[in-house]
Amino acid sequence: MSAQVTKPKVVIFTTGGTIASINGQPMIDGPVLVQAVPEILAYATVEVIEFSKIGSSQITPNHWLKLSQQINAVLAKDSTISGIIITHGTDTMEETAFFLNLTIKSDKPVIFVGSMRSSNEISADGPANLLNAVRVATDKKAIGQGVLVVLNEHIAAARNVFKNHNRNVHTFQSPELGYLGFVDPDKIVFYQKVLHPHTTQTLFNIQHLDSLPKVELIQDFTGFDAGILDYFFSKKVDGIVVQTFAGGRASAGVRKGLKNAANSGIPVIMASGVPNGRIIGDSPYDFPAIFSKDFRGNKARILLMLCLTKGMDLEEIKTAFEVY
Ligand code: ASP
Repeated sequence: MSAQVTKPKVVIFTTGGTIASINGQPMIDGPVLVQAVPEILAYATVEVIEFSKIGSSQITPNHWLKLSQQINAVLAKDSTISGIIITHGTDTMEETAFFLNLTIKSDKPVIFVGSMRSSNEISADGPANLLNAVRVATDKKAIGQGVLVVLNEHIAAARNVFKNHNRNVHTFQSPELGYLGFVDPDKIVFYQKVLHPHTTQTLFNIQHLDSLPKVELIQDFTGFDAGILDYFFSKKVDGIVVQTFAGGRASAGVRKGLKNAANSGIPVIMASGVPNGRIIGDSPYDFPAIFSKDFRGNKARILLMLCLTKGMDLEEIKTAFEVY
């Protein structure tokens, strides 16, 4: 009688999104979504936790906080878990994944997966993506890689990836920094690692928090009216991120609005909206602002939120934008 080989255990947190959608009908329940891919059982035993059933455009920072706290608690409670999978909409997946990349306190694989086609569309990509996510989550090579995004057989770092196409199944791109690895039919292959600190390597610990600092994100545009910033500074915000033109260059309206608030004490990050390449040097403007090096506005906002949970001053925030 051959010994029964116990399969590694994964916990799948379901949040909603297209992967759980049937056009025009309510979202699929988490357990049903996973049961629809019985091939998973060849790789793992599965526990499903239905966290939410919403499109990811409805995800908020409070969801990020609660999801990270729940995953940290589950991992701390059960050391037999091999990996965590989060099924999630693709619209804001890069944000939730990046938040977890900085706040999960385990080196076990944490894998985000979604789909670009609903489950009832021809050639739906969800089932294969979910199976591939389980294969990565149970592969020892995924340990210590930080939070990963797995779609279309590509393994990307949560730090670097972004949604780059409105419809195509190969939407998640990391054009200059590339992919960490691939899900091949015969095995999982990794070719590189992320050098920037993540998960257990970061200063950020959010387990005790009930909420996150309020950081607003504003897009600069030609002819920007400084009054927009005046309004934002008049609200009770803890920080502001301006998504600028290339290189951190800003319109006259943004510069006027930021100069108006130079003594507000509210930290300001200027993040280029151009997806590739670093902003070189420091802000040349005559008001306090920190350049986000290679994060666009959405991820710069997340890093600033977390810096503010640590009570960082402007110099410490500037360092954090060099380090993470
Ligand atoms: N179309 C999106 C998705 O791929 C919808 C969402 O992000 O919830 O999941």
